[in-house]
Amino acid sequence: MLPEFNYARPATLDEAVRLLAAPGARAHAGGTDLLGCLRDGVFPAATVVSLSGLAELTGIRKALDGGVVVGSLTTLSELAGSSDLAARFPTLAAAAAAAASPQLRNQGTLGGNLCQKPRCWYYRGEFRCARKGGEKCFAAEGENQFHAIFGGEVCFYVHPSDVAPALVALDAVVRVAGPAGGRSVPAADFFVPPSRDYTRETVLAAGEVVTEVAIPAPPPGTRGTYRKVRARGAWDFALAGAAVAVKVAGGRVERARVVLSGVAPVPWRVPAAEKALTGRPLTADAAPKAAAAAAEGAQPLAENAYKVELVRGVVEEAVLALAG
Ligand SMILES: Cc1cc2nc3c(=O)[nH]c(=O)nc-3n(C[C@H](O)[C@H](O)[C@H](O)COP(=O)(O)OP(=O)(O)OC[C@H]3O[C@@H](n4cnc5c(N)ncnc54)[C@H](O)[C@@H]3O)c2cc1C
Repeated sequence: MLPEFNYARPATLDEAVRLLAAPGARAHAGGTDLLGCLRDGVFPAATVVSLSGLAELTGIRKALDGGVVVGSLTTLSELAGSSDLAARFPTLAAAAAAAASPQLRNQGTLGGNLCQKPRCWYYRGEFRCARKGGEKCFAAEGENQFHAIFGGEVCFYVHPSDVAPALVALDAVVRVAGPAGGRSVPAADFFVPPSRDYTRETVLAAGEVVTEVAIPAPPPGTRGTYRKVRARGAWDFALAGAAVAVKVAGGRVERARVVLSGVAPVPWRVPAAEKALTGRPLTADAAPKAAAAAAEGAQPLAENAYKVELVRGVVEEAVLALAG
């Protein structure tokens, strides 16, 4: 059952920021994650602040630099269904299309997808784990088949978003409004690894809200895709996924981004795989080399060594798709 809370639906962004700066306030976009967290007692809310009255946070528009700006209230369905995004930012469109179910994509928003809470069953369950103020990560020695093989250290949840790795691969910038004004944060710096602070998932401070995400224009010769493996063919979070974006010039890869999902507490960029692709022709031969590099340094837990092979497979598949 949902606990009691106050509910506000501000008509302006300034008002939303003011309300969200109060202790215990929580932003409500589509509610697909927030309401489950409140119902399950993952955290309390004194006030739920609906963003749904803020029309300026909706929609996809072209930026002056040829890039695109996506409002934080844009639904995942809109991202997945945009013909402009599919043509110019296929990594993002494919990632949005791979997230959750059609119903959840119709309701879930870009901002909510980036700020959703960990899906770790200890965090979501009745365990006072480190992330909830306790002393240990129960997954480290517990049921950890869906947990991290990279970057876990003190907390081994995996970042649940499919969209976030795509945005990191595209060098997107997250724009934020808050009590101290607006600021822009590269998507690569927006997520906080547990080694830095295991009590938070993003750099957002109290009262700060994601307003939009800006993605720079893709340079000529850019290709991209998102591949994901899940436990079943229906809706599900990634066991492992890969957002890959490359710029090909003169028959060779000039620049590569390989960012993994489902295997680390933040979207996990793999410079070794990017290096394996860069400077070489984008052929089928490149795929296994990038795949092997992507899995280097993995530190599986007792029950999730299978993810190392999934990483290899998903990166190989993504590079093969781009090689054509
Ligand atoms: C069964 C199921 C399967 C799923 N599968 C996938 C999947 O495969 N891949 C995937 O990527 N996701 C998956 N999800 C997650 C889903 O995509 C998210 O729940 C959704 O995107 C959240 O968006 P929302 O608008 O509903 O957010 P809300 O539930 O409204 O908010 C989520 C969190 O973000 C905060 N928040 C929301 N908007 C903002 C903002 N603009 N600024 C700051 N904070 C904000 C809220 O306070 C809350 O803490 C799944 C969810 C479910 C329930």
